[in-house]
Amino acid sequence: MTTQSITVVGSTNTDMVIKTTKLPLPGETILGGDFLMNPGGKGANQAVAAARLGGIVTLVAKTGDDLFGRQAKMLFQSENLNTGFVFSDPDSPSGIALITVDDHAENCIVVAPGANARLLKSDIDQAIEAILESEILLMQLEIPLETVIYATGIAFRAGKKVILNPAPAQQLPDELLKMLYLITPNETEAELLTGIPVIDSVSAERAAKVLLSKGVQVVVLTLGSKGALIVTESLCHLVPAIKVSAIDTTAAGDCFNGALAVALAEGSDLVNAITFANKAAALSVTKMGAQASAPFRHEIDSLA
Ligand code: ADP
Repeated sequence: MTTQSITVVGSTNTDMVIKTTKLPLPGETILGGDFLMNPGGKGANQAVAAARLGGIVTLVAKTGDDLFGRQAKMLFQSENLNTGFVFSDPDSPSGIALITVDDHAENCIVVAPGANARLLKSDIDQAIEAILESEILLMQLEIPLETVIYATGIAFRAGKKVILNPAPAQQLPDELLKMLYLITPNETEAELLTGIPVIDSVSAERAAKVLLSKGVQVVVLTLGSKGALIVTESLCHLVPAIKVSAIDTTAAGDCFNGALAVALAEGSDLVNAITFANKAAALSVTKMGAQASAPFRHEIDSLA
């Protein structure tokens, strides 16, 4: 088994979480409970998940030149990510998410993208060697769409596999879709991209086929506790989720995508790669947190 490397181009945030008994109303001040500061951002979450599972991972991201940015970079290094292309922007703050969570696990989130919004084509030009040396490019949509399209074009023309996790949900141009090897929408994202509400297996397959008709080679629709549906021109196959008692599904999709990239980089076929991703994501929902809940390789092996 050879392990090929993965480049993740995406966001990094610091999540600031306060637990409260109830969410504040407009104009109201309430006393909260515990305060937690957690590393987050879909790009960083997926990169960390992939590295913990044995991937050789380069993260291309942008922080501010501030305390949060420096902390994030140190953390990435401790997770064995290649941080040579984690840029620091002197003119904008690091990305922050302010999160309030009440006793019923209902939340209220405000994200200030900060430097994530300034990860530009010129940064991709600087990181081109990482993209060209990797087998897989993994991206999400918390950075400018223009940057996602540009990086995809470079990888696509070099014959690399591009995986896009289309989250947060937004419309995508056909010029991007036709260059993707694989796309991983959840049900909400699939509906936004195709106009087809995903409510059962028939509508899931129909939505996936719309994406295939735009030129995506493989659609992997994630279905939460039901698992994931793989749809290609010749295959429509549900890989059921692993049964676990879930306590926090934050970043389950991020863990799934990181794991999928690792399995594909190792040469697994689609069904085995999704089985591996389901296992990793299932383990992640049994623990609290985003990056903190991503499992290590030996945990997957012992689950098997
Ligand atoms: P997102 O977090 O992006 O909304 P999903 O909710 O579809 O994505 O979850 C992604 C993957 O995480 C699923 O395909 C599945 O493998 C795993 N997963 C999510 N929730 C559970 C759960 N309750 N039990 C087991 N696996 C889960």
